[in-house]
Amino acid sequence: CLESAINFGAGPAKLPEEVLVEVQKEVVHYGTTKISVMEMSHRSADYAKINDTAQQTVRELLNIPDNYKILFMQGGGTGMFAAVPLNLMSETGVADYIVTGSWSAKAAKEAAKYGKVNMVLPKTDKYVDIPDPSTWNLSPNASYIYYCANETVHGIEFPYIPDTQGIPLVTDMSSNILSRSFDVSKFGVIFAGAQKNIGPAGVTLVIIREDLLGKAAIACPTVLDFTIMAKDNSLHNTPPTFAIYVMGLVFQWIKKEGGVKEMERRAIEKSNLIYEIINSSNNFYYCPVKNDVRSRMNVPFRIGDSNGDEELEKKFLVGAQKLGMLQLKGHRLVGGIRASLYNAVTLDNARVLAKYMKEFYENNK
Ligand code: PMP
Repeated sequence: CLESAINFGAGPAKLPEEVLVEVQKEVVHYGTTKISVMEMSHRSADYAKINDTAQQTVRELLNIPDNYKILFMQGGGTGMFAAVPLNLMSETGVADYIVTGSWSAKAAKEAAKYGKVNMVLPKTDKYVDIPDPSTWNLSPNASYIYYCANETVHGIEFPYIPDTQGIPLVTDMSSNILSRSFDVSKFGVIFAGAQKNIGPAGVTLVIIREDLLGKAAIACPTVLDFTIMAKDNSLHNTPPTFAIYVMGLVFQWIKKEGGVKEMERRAIEKSNLIYEIINSSNNFYYCPVKNDVRSRMNVPFRIGDSNGDEELEKKFLVGAQKLGMLQLKGHRLVGGIRASLYNAVTLDNARVLAKYMKEFYENNK
């Protein structure tokens, strides 16, 4: 048994150890096939089973209604920033973007290549809150309304699903999917890059309501076309087969552990541990995000004061690494520290970090 480091990376991120061990067992010979999944035709019966089982398991985990298609695509979250307008904007040529952090800002910028983007919120570069919906500037003719459910860099997570009065709602759930239960039927499109809560980088999960298919712009690249991918069961071209296989194992792991509700319970417990230390540190640890929109997945904070004392932050990271805690450095846009607490990060892992933070505070305040 290997002693793994404690991985708080924002993505690619920690995978459940059990899944990695399973992959290790099967990597050379998958089942009775005597070949690896990596060497297997995507047109084979064995691969069809991997593809279909992964779909069925995630349908079950998220309670996805029958009128939604599940797609396994490529291009990552960034690919989806283009795919969404290319597939959905042609209705009116306008889309509303609720920008609450750097990832939704990037999505809005990409969408503006393909049509008119209406910014729902006033422009800011300090993302610390989600303005009240009564202040939102929604357009009367948007083809869809877009938001990022969890901003991985700024640590802002929507605690509710926006009410769009019937306009299709599109969300980027790359960094919080499968960590809280929610009503899929409130959405037109949900997408998530795999490399946080789902599996290895390379596959992007897309969940789309069927009536939104068939609207792609003529110039939409085939690999980004939701309608073609849905028609061909995500097998139009060669999919990232190995990533999809590992993703299927992660779905099964979540099911075995108690499903999304249990992941949600753990996410609350883990993040509360860290936020409690921050809140009781007299601003020695400083998280700029307003309490009710703080992410349960990504906890960004500065050390020393609100601007961060870089020497102290360096010392914190070196000390953490000595104790086996890795990838705690904040995103370069905001600096400081970021603890990502995805599904595969255990409660014990979070406890080790909380204990270290407490001791570091006592020794350096
Ligand atoms: N959306 C969110 C919320 C993300 O966190 C990221 C990546 N960290 C992306 C989109 C971009 O994903 P990718 O790197 O797979 O293009």
